[in-house]
Amino acid sequence: MDKIAKLIIEKGLKPSDCDYHTMRLLDNNGKVRALVIKGDSIAHIEYVCPKCRHSEYRTQPWKSVSKAAKIRFSVKCTKCGFDIKVEKLKAKK
Ligand SMILES: [Zn+2]
Repeated sequence: MDKIAKLIIEKGLKPSDCDYHTMRLLDNNGKVRALVIKGDSIAHIEYVCPKCRHSEYRTQPWKSVSKAAKIRFSVKCTKCGFDIKVEKLKAKK
């Protein structure tokens, strides 16, 4: 789980260079981190699967979702097929 951290250092990314960046803890000590660089249509995703503990870094197309959608994105564990869903954070008022 350090690919995204390395990417940020390599590219010298600041928070303002990112369209999206999140790190979430999941059930069963799973976790997921995602980063989308501004102007990019690719999401860099790292996860530890809460089901089988498989840990992986991968990229996938970053799609926009409707405002009503509760899930911002999901990533499928390549080992067990578990769908890791990341909910949107509630917008600050
Ligand atoms: Zn898995």
